[in-house]
Amino acid sequence: MVVTPIIGLEIHVHLATRTKMWCGCALEYGAAPNSRTCPVCLGLPGALPVANQLAIELAMRVGLALRCTIRSFTKWDRKSYYYPDLPKNYQISQYDLPLCEAGHLEFPHDGRIAKVRVRRAHLEEDAGKNTHLTGFSGVDLNRAGSPLLEIVTEPDLSSADEAREFAVQLHRLVHYLGVSEANMQLGQMRFEPNINLRIERDGEVYLTPIVEVKNLNSFRSLQGAIEYEVQRQQEVFLETGVTLASGNKSNRGWDDDRLVTVPQREKEEAHDYRYFPEPDLIPYEPDAAWVADVSEHMPELPIPRTERFISEYKVGPKDAPALVDDRATADLLDDAAAAGGDKATLARQFLGFWAMHANARETTIARLGLSPERLAGLANLVRDGTVSATAAARISEAMLTRSEPAGVLAEEMGLVQVSDAGAVETWVAEALRNNPDAVRDALDNPKKLQRARGFLTGQVMKISGGQADPKVAGDLIERKLAELRPA
Ligand code: ZN
Ligand code: MN
Repeated sequence: MVVTPIIGLEIHVHLATRTKMWCGCALEYGAAPNSRTCPVCLGLPGALPVANQLAIELAMRVGLALRCTIRSFTKWDRKSYYYPDLPKNYQISQYDLPLCEAGHLEFPHDGRIAKVRVRRAHLEEDAGKNTHLTGFSGVDLNRAGSPLLEIVTEPDLSSADEAREFAVQLHRLVHYLGVSEANMQLGQMRFEPNINLRIERDGEVYLTPIVEVKNLNSFRSLQGAIEYEVQRQQEVFLETGVTLASGNKSNRGWDDDRLVTVPQREKEEAHDYRYFPEPDLIPYEPDAAWVADVSEHMPELPIPRTERFISEYKVGPKDAPALVDDRATADLLDDAAAAGGDKATLARQFLGFWAMHANARETTIARLGLSPERLAGLANLVRDGTVSATAAARISEAMLTRSEPAGVLAEEMGLVQVSDAGAVETWVAEALRNNPDAVRDALDNPKKLQRARGFLTGQVMKISGGQADPKVAGDLIERKLAELRPA
């Protein structure tokens, strides 16, 4: 029996606009319930919606990044919806003419390039939030009418792992495009996988009924829900033999405590929603010149940028994402290189002490407040052999509180490397005098030679307070040892 999971994803992304999709109400998390509402988002009779132009632009940016076609003619549709959290009793969405269509996302996974086709991406509005209190229920409509982008993929994913990686990449992408904060805890990005199995047994192919798992708001729950469904559907098939037939799709929810999916209300078919063109909004025809302009101003996307960093900055594929993940930090690295900083050294310092300083302050490297020029300056002190890598870490600490260039701080802190042989020779002599055991090892025991030499170099660095040029010190130690070696 060969079992292949067939997985597609529906993703809802909150767009980072200042105001709602159809009215001027502010989008604010944590405001007092129902304090960000008006006749439009309360669904009062006669109130008319006006489309938020920025929301359309943000949706378009995602569409362009996903290589979608942007429709030159698109319209809005009403989707019937009868729950208290959307008091109009319909959601304005896009049905047959979505803004973005037929794209794809390629990403490295499992040693190959995975390609997931994107069927569509359209704009719609979010609902409010029902809260169940003791003895009664309340509804908060602050979120009602928030702009949402719904992205629908083709069922091109075939494992929980791959679906998780796609979700991670998409999350990073929307963040990169400045389209959404995509804070998963706040529900700003939610995943709904469609899952069924293709089962091949005794030359016959069976498809299990499709299950949609609703409202997953972490990568972990997305992966867990898919893994669980793959297992559960296989067991149900072996027990009952029930296969996919029209109408046996179902919705399930994810129980985060018990780590199982649980049945929910039956899934509506499109005809249950009674879609029809929204009479309060005219169809929308994005201006071609505007679309071209948005397209031209797209930033370099994370995946190609990662590849560029690997080749330009000489970092490994494991390290590169840490440099790319935060767009402002990646921009800063590029700017520091453009300011003349040595690329490989900059990357090492970003991955090393700069990341450490940022982590300790719970922020990003970009927010440490360092200019590209100062970063480049410190990198080049190391490249030119003016200071050692260790000394650079100490200088970096000082740079966070002081505004002088790295070179000035290096002088002042006495960290400029001394490569003048005379000075280094004094330190070497002292190191050899203080460590007769290491000297003996180096002379008598070929097996210990390497380690003893390293140890002695370390001693020279210590005695010199980090100022000795380690290369000069190493050469001098070698020469002294040769002199001591019996002919
Ligand atoms: Zn409003
Ligand atoms: Mn939707």
